Amino acid sequence: MILMNDFKAEPVEVRDAMLEAAKRVFDSGWYVLGPEVAAFEAAWAKLCGVDFGVGVGNGVDAIEIGLRCLDIGPGDEVITTPMTAFATVLAVIRAGATPVLADIDPETGLLSLESVNRCLSEKTKAVVLVHLYGQIRDMQNWVNFCHKNKIALVEDCAQSHLASMNGRVAGHFGVLGAYSFYPTKNLGAPGDAGMLVTNTETIATRAQCLRNYGQSVRYQHPELGMNSRLDELQAAILHTRLKWLEANTQRRQEIAALYRVGLNNKAVRLLAEPQFKTAHVYHLFVVLCEKRDELQAHLHKNGIQALIHYPIPIHNQVPCQQVARDPQGLGHSECHANTCLSLPCHPQMSDRDVQTVIAAVNDFTTEE
Ligand SMILES: *Cc1c(COP(=O)(O)O)cnc(C)c1O
Repeated sequence: MILMNDFKAEPVEVRDAMLEAAKRVFDSGWYVLGPEVAAFEAAWAKLCGVDFGVGVGNGVDAIEIGLRCLDIGPGDEVITTPMTAFATVLAVIRAGATPVLADIDPETGLLSLESVNRCLSEKTKAVVLVHLYGQIRDMQNWVNFCHKNKIALVEDCAQSHLASMNGRVAGHFGVLGAYSFYPTKNLGAPGDAGMLVTNTETIATRAQCLRNYGQSVRYQHPELGMNSRLDELQAAILHTRLKWLEANTQRRQEIAALYRVGLNNKAVRLLAEPQFKTAHVYHLFVVLCEKRDELQAHLHKNGIQALIHYPIPIHNQVPCQQVARDPQGLGHSECHANTCLSLPCHPQMSDRDVQTVIAAVNDFTTEE
């Protein structure tokens, strides 16, 4: 079976390096928020081109803490996309703010600026821009739009590790970026982990406080925070795995290039090409097909796993059916949810695996 992710197929050097990192932590006897976390925070912030990284428990907390650091909460509106992981909207709601859902651009699956513009109100405080599938796009337009409308640009970078354009990396365009290091992400931990990145010192300081019960200095709690601390074990292993991130990203980009050349089934549509080669890190390689469920079943029959990101747009999830949205509706998101399919695209795939997937997709007909 060609899987969406295949951690067991990782090179033995990676495994050995992870065990080495784990040993270092056990030898140190320090397990939560210590030198490994500080070292990984510094390394990741540097790669993102920002001054501060604050390690947290996971990606959804990074977004929630980020919004709270911006004083966004009850009574405030935050515009985001219904075509994302549930976590994005959950974070807005958990921060106490009101999500407003804008539609996507059907060519990319990314938030549509025109739709976001229609969602603006006096209460709008931020846009949470999701770099879906690993793509960053039109970033200067987003920066200008948010600046002009005096709202914060918050980047959900959970799928876009080190995607860049003109030398600027995801998380460096907005006032803050939120990363997840969940195992399946482009940089993944053997567990949950996340990080908030920012150039603003007051945000970093407040995030450090919020992740640790709202504690400023030991035993003083000027505000109510949460427990979203990062473990030494996860930080040490992530720091080690960083060594392979660039090569792994290049491999994802190579696989995507092979797909773009090889896929020629008229019933299968590709998303738009990235604006720059570095602006798409292919967390997922997504195609669109009217007969999506049949295509998924056909691939499965041919030994290929393919998953749907995402089958249900957020406004159709039970707790979100009343969520405010673009007055023109969310038709593109609904259409995308009904037609999108993610093909395997991970660094452990061989060229032969990629050709197997291409042949199976090209060979798909609805008459079978
Ligand atoms: C994975 C993901 C998150 C949440 O990250 P967790 O670490 O699972 O909390 C948020 N947004 C997007 C777009 C994601 O893909």
